[in-house]
Amino acid sequence: MVIQCAKNNHSLNQLNQPITIFAFPVQTEVFNKNMAKKTSETADAPKHVAVVTDASLEFFRNYINNPSPTGFEWKGQQLWLDYINPYIDEHYVDNYGTAVGIINKDAPYKVVIEAHADEISWFVNYITNDGLIYVIRNGGSDHQIAPSKRVDIHTDNGIVKAVFGWPAIHTRSAGEKEEAPTLKNIFLDCGCTTKEEVEKLGIHVGCVITYEDEFMVLNDRYYVGRALDNRAGGFMIAEVARLLKENKKKLPFGLYIVNAVQEEIGLRGAEMIAHHIKPNVAIVTDVTHDTQTPMINKITQGDLACGKGPVVSYAPAVQNNLNKLLIESAQNANIPFQRQASSRSTGTDTDAFAYSNDGVPSALISLPLRYMHTTVEMIHKEDVDNVIRMIYETLLNIKAGQDFRYIK
Ligand SMILES: [Zn+2]
Repeated sequence: MVIQCAKNNHSLNQLNQPITIFAFPVQTEVFNKNMAKKTSETADAPKHVAVVTDASLEFFRNYINNPSPTGFEWKGQQLWLDYINPYIDEHYVDNYGTAVGIINKDAPYKVVIEAHADEISWFVNYITNDGLIYVIRNGGSDHQIAPSKRVDIHTDNGIVKAVFGWPAIHTRSAGEKEEAPTLKNIFLDCGCTTKEEVEKLGIHVGCVITYEDEFMVLNDRYYVGRALDNRAGGFMIAEVARLLKENKKKLPFGLYIVNAVQEEIGLRGAEMIAHHIKPNVAIVTDVTHDTQTPMINKITQGDLACGKGPVVSYAPAVQNNLNKLLIESAQNANIPFQRQASSRSTGTDTDAFAYSNDGVPSALISLPLRYMHTTVEMIHKEDVDNVIRMIYETLLNIKAGQDFRYIK
C-alpha cells in the first residue's frame, strides 16, 4: 500500500464500524479438491474453508523470500509467471515489468483482478570517504525500523551484505533527549573503511537495498514476512486462477490477472497497464491496517482486525454497484468480511484503474495486515483463504457485458 500524499490523507474513517460475521449454514459445495482442512469452528461463525495448499504455500514462501524492489521486480515476476502458467491461456509482460496472465483473450468484455508485485526498498545515495553509505527511500521505507537491521545490497556482482549501524546506548549521552532515526542519520556499514573499498565490492550510487528477513509462520495462524504488502496479493490472485482451473470454471469474459509493478511509488504500474488493457471492470486486492495493536487510533484509522475477514472499502473511487456485487458474493458464500472508509482515494491501485480510460468500475478487497512497511508484516491465514474465495466467488457472479452504471 502506497503512502498517500498529504492532500489525500484527510482520514475520516467511520467510527466503531461493526465487524460483520455471517452465521449462515455452512456451504456444502466442494470448493477445491486440495482444500479440506477446516481450521476454525465456533457456534456463531461459519466454518472456515481453507484454500491454500501445501504446494501453493511453498510457492508463497519462495515468492516472499525473493526480493522484488520497486522498479526491479523482474525476478519475482518470473517466479509468479512460472507458478500461474498452468492456470492461464497466455501471458503478457509490459516494458516496465507488469505481468498479466490472460484467460479467454478474445472475449470483448474484460475483467481485471489485480495486485502489486513491488516491495519497498532503499537506494544507495552517498558513499562517504570512510566507506559508510547513506540511503534514500525507494517507496515508503520506514527510517524508524532501520537501525540494527541486516540488508542485502543488490549489485551487478550479486548480493553484498551490510548492516544499518547505530551508536551504542553507552555512547549516547545519558539524560539528554535521544535522537530518533531519520534519513539524515541512518547509514549502512558494509565492513569497508574507504570509499574505494566499497566501490570494489560493486556498490555504487543507485544500487537497491532490501532487508534479508524471510517468511515464517507464527502459531500456525499468521504468515509473517517482509513485504507481504502486497506480494500476498500476487499470491492470492494466482490462487484464484488455480481455483478456476481446478474447478473447471468457464468464464463468459476475458480475465486479466495483473501483477503490477511500481505501486509503492504512486500506482505507476497500474496506470500503465490499465491504459493497455482497457478493462470493463477491475477488482484490486492490497493490504490494509489491522488496528488492534498499540499506538493505533481507531477513531482515525477504523476498527479492523486480522482474522475477521477481507475488508471492503467505501471511497469515491470504489464503484458502488460493483462493491455490492462483492458483498453479495461474500454473503452468499458465507465469507466473513469487514468494512473500511477512505477519504478521496484508497491509496491502492484501485484509484489508478478507476480513473483510467473513461472511468473503469473498480473495487477493492483488502487483506488486514499488522506492522505495514516493517520486516515483520503479519497476515492471518484464514484472511488469505477468504480473500481468494471472495475474488473467486465475485468472478463467478459477473456477467459478460454487465453494465454497472447507476443510471441507464
Ligand atoms: Zn505498501
